[in-house]
Amino acid sequence: MDAQAEWKLPWTGGCRCGAVRFEVVLAPLLASVCHCFGCQRMSASAFSTTLTIPQAGFRLSQGTVVTGGVHGAAVHHHHCDACKSWVFTTLEPEMGFVNLRATMLDEASWFEPYAEMQLAERLPWVATPARRSFERFPKMEEYAGLIAEFAEHGKRP
Ligand SMILES: [Zn+2]
Ligand SMILES: [Zn+2]
Repeated sequence: MDAQAEWKLPWTGGCRCGAVRFEVVLAPLLASVCHCFGCQRMSASAFSTTLTIPQAGFRLSQGTVVTGGVHGAAVHHHHCDACKSWVFTTLEPEMGFVNLRATMLDEASWFEPYAEMQLAERLPWVATPARRSFERFPKMEEYAGLIAEFAEHGKRP
């Protein structure tokens, strides 16, 4: 099966108010959640959900995003200018991917984290089905293995 069929691509999604819309046309590299204090505050919840999408596979189809969250850092949080939803995050320098908030997809019920990051800051009652857990972020050299595992075993839509 080709990737488009295997992942039921393309996907569509958008912010809370609908002003920002996007499309995903390439399969994700990883599905994860982050328990860090920053993500707890940004999401107003227990953790953030992430689908790491190759840059070439993500495009805004409507609306404009503005930088929110942490300003002036190597991480850029992109929000809808109207409703302030946190839609996706990019890194600087450009890393070739976009970290899309999974719950912005029109159909997100299939999402399940393969990895969870920043367990050190997790709310004590939170449990996820993630197969790989990290006290902080994985080391750079650990990502290739994670991506390969996810390509084989990660949950599909
Ligand atoms: Zn985080
Ligand atoms: Zn919006």
